[in-house]
Amino acid sequence: MSNKRPLHPSTIAVRTQTERTQQMEHSTPLFLTSSFTFENAESMRAAFADESDDNIYSRYSNPTVDEFAHKIALLEKCEAGFAVASGMAAVFNSFMALLKTGDHLLCCRSMFGGTNTVVTKFLGKFGIEFTLVDAADIDNWEASVKPNTKMLYLETPTNPQLELIDLEKAGRLAKKHNLIFNVDNCFATPFLQTPADFGADLVIHSATKWIDGQGRVLGGVIAGKKELINEVYLFCRNSGPTLSAFNAWVLTKSLETLDVRITRHSANALKVAEKLQKNAQLEWVKYPFLPSHPQHEIAKKQMSAGGGIVCFEIKGGVEAGRKFMDALQLLSLTPNLGDSRSIASHPASTTHSKLSEEERSKVGITPGLIRISVGLEHPDDVIYDIEQALSSIN
Ligand SMILES: *Cc1c(COP(=O)(O)O)cnc(C)c1O
Repeated sequence: MSNKRPLHPSTIAVRTQTERTQQMEHSTPLFLTSSFTFENAESMRAAFADESDDNIYSRYSNPTVDEFAHKIALLEKCEAGFAVASGMAAVFNSFMALLKTGDHLLCCRSMFGGTNTVVTKFLGKFGIEFTLVDAADIDNWEASVKPNTKMLYLETPTNPQLELIDLEKAGRLAKKHNLIFNVDNCFATPFLQTPADFGADLVIHSATKWIDGQGRVLGGVIAGKKELINEVYLFCRNSGPTLSAFNAWVLTKSLETLDVRITRHSANALKVAEKLQKNAQLEWVKYPFLPSHPQHEIAKKQMSAGGGIVCFEIKGGVEAGRKFMDALQLLSLTPNLGDSRSIASHPASTTHSKLSEEERSKVGITPGLIRISVGLEHPDDVIYDIEQALSSIN
């Protein structure tokens, strides 16, 4: 389109597409090919000498993968993007490409389990130090900044505790100390929150969750400032966390419906949270857009809706949590989230079962904590299933 009027994000998500081929396809094509051909030796030489943008090999670039990464970069208001095989590949490679021995990483304590393992168990192997800070203590984070602090990393809302971090304050701190501000925006998606508005230099995603939205493929993406994404690209084209073109095709098609889906997921989740709030068998219910959420004001400031995850604490601890899971009839018992199908998980008996109760409570995993990923079924059916499971516990 030739006029300069900026397009809305939902239009960008639908209409950003690889240039049409001579087959005149309407839906975006899938370039399932490991390498690309050249007309002659000279064009091949020029491509290898970086004198042309021609595709060479799919570990370096692939039109379908690039379409997906480019679309995410536009939606996240970032200059560039690079797609990888999973959310964890996005997290790990954003560290590996930009940190080196002797650097220090400032990190929020409540974060995705895999990220926590990478930070606390593996970064030390490369001589990278870290400090974990609490979401609620953001006004004191500055005391943990050291002369060698290079990056501030966080996710908001956090998985699974649904803690929120004030992106404006975090962005200001990063700017003041010249830190690379790296945000995992998986739970909100670019349709509910764009961290670049608050100064994020990098925005990463597990595309496996809401972006796919139907539990089919794994994927990840790192978007951000061009100079940083260039470093990520140079590292990844050699280390090889490549996203499959097939998965990229599924994910770029999924982006066409993300706005509609995440809006409905959020509306359904709010209905579920509001109804459960009145349930006497629950200690508490947590959802960013419930006024009872301790950081509700932050949610309203930086998110346009609350997302699809609702958490609650069942009275009766671990045993009650297990009984609740067994009594569900509609909801799926599976560790994924962000699916059209509603999902229940009980972290204390599954993802966090190897930790002691004390370690769990430090990261906000209480014994009866249940995480619901609210799907696209009719919300009354989701509520009915949760309520019948709760009432069968006693
Ligand atoms: C799932 C998840 C990841 C990891 O993504 P994978 O695609 O499973 O590798 C990272 N961050 C958050 C917040 C997640 O929920």
